[in-house]
Amino acid sequence: MKAMVLERSRTRLVPVERPDPVPGPGEIRLRIEACAVCRTDLHVVDGELEHSKRPLVPGHEIVGIVEAIGLGVDATRMGRRVGVPWLGHTCGTCPYCRFGAENLCDAPLFTGYTRDGGFATHAVADTDFAFDLDPDADPVALAPLLCAGLIGWRSLKKAGDGKRIGLYGFGAAAHIIAQVCVWQGREVYAFTRPEDLDVQHFALSLGAAWAGGSEEAPPVPLDAAIIFAPVGELVPAALRAVRKAGRVVCGGIHMSDIPSMPYAALWEERELVSVANLTRQDAATFFPVARAAGVRTHTTIYPLASANEALADLRAGRLNGAAVLVP
Ligand SMILES: [Zn+2]
Ligand SMILES: [Zn+2]
Repeated sequence: MKAMVLERSRTRLVPVERPDPVPGPGEIRLRIEACAVCRTDLHVVDGELEHSKRPLVPGHEIVGIVEAIGLGVDATRMGRRVGVPWLGHTCGTCPYCRFGAENLCDAPLFTGYTRDGGFATHAVADTDFAFDLDPDADPVALAPLLCAGLIGWRSLKKAGDGKRIGLYGFGAAAHIIAQVCVWQGREVYAFTRPEDLDVQHFALSLGAAWAGGSEEAPPVPLDAAIIFAPVGELVPAALRAVRKAGRVVCGGIHMSDIPSMPYAALWEERELVSVANLTRQDAATFFPVARAAGVRTHTTIYPLASANEALADLRAGRLNGAAVLVP
């Protein structure tokens, strides 16, 4: 197999050739068709998330075909198209696993972080954490659903049932969730860096009711806001934008420090919460919604060997939608 490997933090990924991995008990091996690039990959490469495996194959939005199975795996999985997300394994016995919050498992494995991921031609995954996907769909279009879609969906559920939803940072996750919100009959208010007028136009083209700079006040108070950008300054801005008892959801795994703010920003029962990882139940509810809503992901394709360029373009904000690596 070929893979793009991170050997040390803050260095370029290097191409390597390895023997194809052998799936252990309960595991499957995929021939990878596509793997999307997530902001979390940048946090891993930059060393902002500790305890990463080294050397590491990043990538946790994998679409591929099952070509080998380990002991105990249902033989009918062979040849199927599956998707492998960030949550790669859970213990099944800790209090969080037992009470429906496996996203908070005490002993998890994460794809492309604590186990090798999808910036490669092949990958091994836990069969219980590989979702069946539509064999007739475009694998490139499916890949961003595996994290941007799933984490975005979990964030949206956390945001509640309000009609007016603010999205701060209009990248891969927001461009999917905006389409879901419009399909649900909600109003989307898209906040971007002030100079990113093309991103604001992109949001409007997907049905957003309004788009503007992240320090601007929306034209109406919002019921809830989701912050996808890793920028702590957006927390007080989003709290100012929501109505009384409105909720602000932080959807990212890492964020710069939240600046000090007056208590009045939180007063009147506004709520500030975070979202961590995903559960398999999130996937069970999200994929049918994405299909019913007719979500169309906007993607830019890179060959596997150009993984560093894809990461650089994401870092620089040069993408509309998601970058996807194709081996
Ligand atoms: Zn991700
Ligand atoms: Zn657990």
